[in-house]
Amino acid sequence: MNQTVASILKQRDFNRETLVRLLEADVEETRLIFSEAASIKHQKVGNRVYLRGLIELSNICAKDCLYCGIRKSNENCQRYVVSDAEIEKAIQYAVDSRMGSLVIQSGELQTENFIERVNDILIRAREIGKGELGVTLSCGEQSRETYEKWRELGASRYLLRIESSNQELYYKIHPQDKTHNFQTRLNALDLLKSCGYQVGTGVMIGLPFQAMDDLASDLLFMRDLDIDMCGMGPYIEHRDTPLYQYKNQLLSVSERIQLSLKMIALLRILMQDINIASTTALQALDKQGRMDALKVGANVMMPNITPGLYRNNYALYLNKPGMDEEAEDSLRNLENQVTEAGCVVGYGVKGDSVHFSARKL
Ligand code: SAH
Repeated sequence: MNQTVASILKQRDFNRETLVRLLEADVEETRLIFSEAASIKHQKVGNRVYLRGLIELSNICAKDCLYCGIRKSNENCQRYVVSDAEIEKAIQYAVDSRMGSLVIQSGELQTENFIERVNDILIRAREIGKGELGVTLSCGEQSRETYEKWRELGASRYLLRIESSNQELYYKIHPQDKTHNFQTRLNALDLLKSCGYQVGTGVMIGLPFQAMDDLASDLLFMRDLDIDMCGMGPYIEHRDTPLYQYKNQLLSVSERIQLSLKMIALLRILMQDINIASTTALQALDKQGRMDALKVGANVMMPNITPGLYRNNYALYLNKPGMDEEAEDSLRNLENQVTEAGCVVGYGVKGDSVHFSARKL
């Protein structure tokens, strides 16, 4: 436990104990971690930032996650489904602005109606994008059959956060019932892998009841699962959720930001050629947040292209940024941030995970 941060980094001796030590690094030591992550990022994935136009298809959700603003029991949430015409417009916008890829994210439903809706969107995305548009889905737990169907229809990546890899903590932030089963979520990640997706997962950072040990285990979980992509960011309380009552026990905003940046940097050090998203939640806590994430390891950004009418209602947490801006502004803001972080936007390319290509060899 007396090892210095420098020696852990040098020996690449990563286990739960050393990772906790790194997560607890002071300001000086953290600089070492960040600079190591930046140099690995530069070598392995370069300074290009890939864009994924994010469409939040619907906030109707069958789940009741204790942290999430669009949970089923939140009656203050006005529910919507983006119309076909608007989806097409958004896809066309992603193509016209040369984003390279799309993410379709949604509240979690397993109804036939929902599954078919996603089928149709995938078909349209292939037509509008002329097969050149990368498509990521983030539509929750589904059956093997559904995952296979979506894969066939052109989705090549899937993002399903484990939220926390510690089963005990998982059940503190989810209702303990059949709909929120930890094992089912783990199985879904395995299913996605076996269906040939580039698989992404992630966790929330700074959750109530979460210890450094949990975060260290989350990093090892992602490494052991051999993921291709990651999206993780700070937990942000939402007034209309059960976890809101613990808001006074949370880490401060600046601590949560720092910890999130450290998690990103450490994951880059552990998994050098994966794609790591600089997430919106980071920006919600700090204007600079997403830019800082690019500097310490992230290489993917997801400009929100959900039509303005709906995006106010996809409120996962408080102060979600970009609620009042249209797609054009959202893109321009991102571009500025990318440049300021010393990176360049990878326009017109899918930006697949290098790790995935290597894994397939
Ligand atoms: N239904 C999809 C997408 C869920 S929303 C799925 O289950 O995969 C996308 C992510 O937002 C979630 O995975 C969760 O990690 C994050 N999220 C939800 N509530 C949040 C909160 N209060 N603070 C920070 N992130 C949150």
